[in-house]
Amino acid sequence: MNNQILLNHLRCIPDWPIKGVIFRDVSTLFKNQQCLKLMSDELVNIYKDKGITQIVGIESRGFVMSSAVAYHLNAGVVLCRKPGKLPCETIQESYAKEYGMDTIEIHKDAITEDDVILLHDDLLATGGTMKAACKLVKKFHPKKIYCNFIIELNTEFPNARDSFDPDIEITSLLKF
Ligand code: 5GP
Repeated sequence: MNNQILLNHLRCIPDWPIKGVIFRDVSTLFKNQQCLKLMSDELVNIYKDKGITQIVGIESRGFVMSSAVAYHLNAGVVLCRKPGKLPCETIQESYAKEYGMDTIEIHKDAITEDDVILLHDDLLATGGTMKAACKLVKKFHPKKIYCNFIIELNTEFPNARDSFDPDIEITSLLKF
């Protein structure tokens, strides 16, 4: 894949949301037609033979590529959301963040044991969010779980990828 095009369009914002953090703003990749197509094509190419039945998108930047790729894989999209946003009965998972706890949830009837799941989010930093999402999805006992990110911050967080359960296959489109 031509990563350089994505790197050229990724907007990095220093000191946001707090001083010392460089925020990688993927909205500039989503709004660029060439980047959106490139990311979608690459993800379809990686996962086309895996039998994916549902893509679980993590709120909210994970929703964008989830639906583009699900369309091409003939898969569905499951929303993994912050508490209080989903209207029906949910299953939840809480996890520790830098300051305090956070919770994510999925509708109780959204995943079955016959599903092959691709979990997708925009960025892997510590891995806390995605590991909680994996734990949550495992409660549904799907056949297999794959994980994907647009960006993996493997220089800043070199141990994040290895902290996942070894049965979960992880890919990312950009590593830096
Ligand atoms: P982690 O849980 O791996 O530490 O952080 C990843 C989560 O925080 C993802 O859901 C991601 O959307 C968000 N996040 C943290 N830092 C950034 C960033 O620099 N850019 C973007 N786009 N998302 C970030």
